[in-house]
Amino acid sequence: MRKFAIAIHGGAGTILRSMMTAEKELSYKQALEDAIKAGESVLRKNGRSMDAVEAAIISLENNPLFNAGKGSVFTNEGKNEMDASIMNGKDLMAGAVAGVQNIKNPISLARAVMEKSEHVFMAGLGAQEFAKKINAQFIPDDYFFVQHRFDQLQEAKKSDTMILDHTVDKEKKFGTVGAVAIDVHGNLAAGTSTGGMTNKKHGRVGDTPIIGSGTFANNKTCAISCTGHGEFFIRSVVAYDISCLIEYKGLSLKKACDIVVMDKLVKIGGEGGLIAIDAKGNIELPFNSEGMYRASKTQDEELFIGIYKD
Ligand code: ASP
Repeated sequence: MRKFAIAIHGGAGTILRSMMTAEKELSYKQALEDAIKAGESVLRKNGRSMDAVEAAIISLENNPLFNAGKGSVFTNEGKNEMDASIMNGKDLMAGAVAGVQNIKNPISLARAVMEKSEHVFMAGLGAQEFAKKINAQFIPDDYFFVQHRFDQLQEAKKSDTMILDHTVDKEKKFGTVGAVAIDVHGNLAAGTSTGGMTNKKHGRVGDTPIIGSGTFANNKTCAISCTGHGEFFIRSVVAYDISCLIEYKGLSLKKACDIVVMDKLVKIGGEGGLIAIDAKGNIELPFNSEGMYRASKTQDEELFIGIYKD
């Protein structure tokens, strides 16, 4: 039997120590620890990486601190349109949803697309209809109303730009969420969930639900979940690029991550980062922004939690 490992992120961006209070830092750390524990408890019972990834992401989606599920940012029209995807490294099965509203846990809907439909990717009204059919949990608008998100939208509207969650208001830094895991059976899985970017246009879809860009998992190589300025991550096909560097060039996970996150993305102006686990259980958490909410835990090692660059 192999050893299990799990890593999660809560978004990357302008996250500076100088702008954080001790109290806020503590609540982020607690939220990250809770999410890791949710995933770890599955893996410790010899459970599947897919279940661990979903459990960790549900914990983050239910926490208003992060830009996913409950804490999702607002579109230009003041709505929440959420994207999510999940992938199983064992059989390359995947599911994704884009632009869904009033869904409590978009990651579970993405998983349902994978397991209960013949499709991989469903968007908008069609995805909502599918959600009704499978009895996904719908939740009213009020649940998603978080005052600072609304304030962020008003700020972003002033400059008429779409803004990465963490850069719009340096006092408030929240983010997309994701998880990657390897279980004791040697199977990898990855998932990502987001409200997108503040002030995005109705119908805008980022990298998060795009298999190969925001999420990818293959038992032969690695599991990846990304966070950052989605347009750049789509154009760079980030998650699959890392897998390809391992598969076709024989690079280590670390080298592949360095090339993609610290060089290729930087050259085109793509701010962000990712979490990665390879088939041997190695973990990498690279980012080219000021910070990234991140945590990891392996079977034998202590819990690691990081927020800033240093
Ligand atoms: N990648 C997400 C998007 O572009 C945003 C984020 O990671 O914070 O929708």
